[in-house]
Amino acid sequence: MQTNPSLTQTFAVETYMRRAYNYLDNMADESGRPYFNIYWFQGGESAQANHNDDDAPDVTSRQWQAAILARHMTGQQCRYENVWAKTILGRIDPKTGLLDPSLSHPNCCSDGHNAMVLYSLATAWADSKDPVYRDAACRMIAQLPGVKPKTMWQGVSIKSVMTWVRLSNDMPGLEYAGTMARDVLDGFGAANHFGGHMHQGLRNLSGVVDYALYVKDAAMLARVDALYRDVRSKGTRFGWLPENAPRAGSPERDQVGCETCALMDFVALATPLANNGHPEYWGDIERMLRNQLAENQVADGSWLKPGDKPDTQLDTWRDVGSRMVGGWAGWSSPTHIWSNGSGSEPTEAGGFKAFMNCCGGSGDTALFTAWKNASLVENGVLSVNMHIDKLLPQAEIRCHQPYQGYLSIALKEACKVRVRVPDFVEARDVKVSSNKGGVKAAVENGYFELGPRQAGEKIEVTYPVPVKEEEIAIGNPGHKQYHYRVTWKGDTVVRMTPIGEQYKTIHSGWGKDPFETEAYYGEEGPGRLYQREYMLSDVVPQPSPLCVDDGKLNFWMLR
Ligand SMILES: [Zn+2]
Repeated sequence: MQTNPSLTQTFAVETYMRRAYNYLDNMADESGRPYFNIYWFQGGESAQANHNDDDAPDVTSRQWQAAILARHMTGQQCRYENVWAKTILGRIDPKTGLLDPSLSHPNCCSDGHNAMVLYSLATAWADSKDPVYRDAACRMIAQLPGVKPKTMWQGVSIKSVMTWVRLSNDMPGLEYAGTMARDVLDGFGAANHFGGHMHQGLRNLSGVVDYALYVKDAAMLARVDALYRDVRSKGTRFGWLPENAPRAGSPERDQVGCETCALMDFVALATPLANNGHPEYWGDIERMLRNQLAENQVADGSWLKPGDKPDTQLDTWRDVGSRMVGGWAGWSSPTHIWSNGSGSEPTEAGGFKAFMNCCGGSGDTALFTAWKNASLVENGVLSVNMHIDKLLPQAEIRCHQPYQGYLSIALKEACKVRVRVPDFVEARDVKVSSNKGGVKAAVENGYFELGPRQAGEKIEVTYPVPVKEEEIAIGNPGHKQYHYRVTWKGDTVVRMTPIGEQYKTIHSGWGKDPFETEAYYGEEGPGRLYQREYMLSDVVPQPSPLCVDDGKLNFWMLR
């Protein structure tokens, strides 16, 4: 088998976060303002990036937060981190403590936008303890309940408020979060059926789970868990989720695309549940991380034709494709970084929206959440929740999946150790050994409980990584369905083969007359995903460079 030695490295989240810096540092204008829209042109014209009202505060606050998280992971600072901090603080009205509608489009000063700013302020304060951020967050949280008009994004506030409540013990914020949490659950109905916009609904639930855990409301937690399982059934095992969950009278037509923002929120919802009595959800997170989340990061923008027109105040055509590398898909299909059929009609100039950069910071936050919780130490117990590389002060964890079923733990400190049994193997097929003699591995709640281990000990876990095939379909009920044969090696998808009818065009459009457009759910289209044949090899991968987890900013390890 042909393998590419440069690609046979261990799977490390750090690798993807490092790639994100190209996007964060370059897909902005000279002042640091990020571009929201990226257009591709059917006639072969140069790709165009374009500012819109969402650039600030929406995209800027997401990217500021992502920049802080990324710095804690890699030690590297984004070019515009300080600029984004200044921009966000400058958009807040000193009189009201809320976003100033005279500085941003009034539509961008909703409760949801204020909430996104609050989340980044809380992150900045947790990072730096700078009182400027604390004061801004305190003022905003006091005013949030009064923001009018309320929008469908109101529930987005909950995670932001709860993050601040936990950091600062702000009790009035807790009451507001509770009101919002009950509203969100009422909105889904007693049957706990998840419908609507994935990003919004999942972000809401990631806040509700935080609140329910904080106040120890078991009934509320059980409802969130039921909704999580319902959401999971609407996606695929490899972590592809539709941007909108079907619901009665759904106007989604033939288009389905996977928005990276929704993957971020899925991880943010699943992680606290997995950390609190549902270890079986670690497998969902690991499969999303290794597969659709990893593939949703732009690795090749060459299909976006480079241009050389000088920038205008609102637009740029310079090297848009290469500047997007490290950014994130707004509407991927299982085979392409862009499915088209995103619902946006072409612009007057014939441009189709290929990316929306709300996802630009969201993918990085998803990476951080998964990385932070992949393995962690609590009260002297090391839990290896996901079989991916992780460097902790107490241990170095290395995994050879998908090449080989091999995990090693090099302990630097004495601690108890537990390792999750991968979903695709039986515990009896797993061998655990140590350089310090025999290991008794009792299986409990899906983990090998290895008991107290010594500093200097190297534990090795080996298991088979079977290659299996599965056939799946995606698509809205009553609309076109897209079929795939998925080849798995352990928890990694190594091949994605479209099968059945491959539609060249589909009906697209939201809440208006549908229009016929090219779509990329088959073999043809830009940015082919899952080009992973080399992963079928059983070579020993080279260790990827890792960064030590400083233990800070884990907003998803909740007790
Ligand atoms: Zn997005």
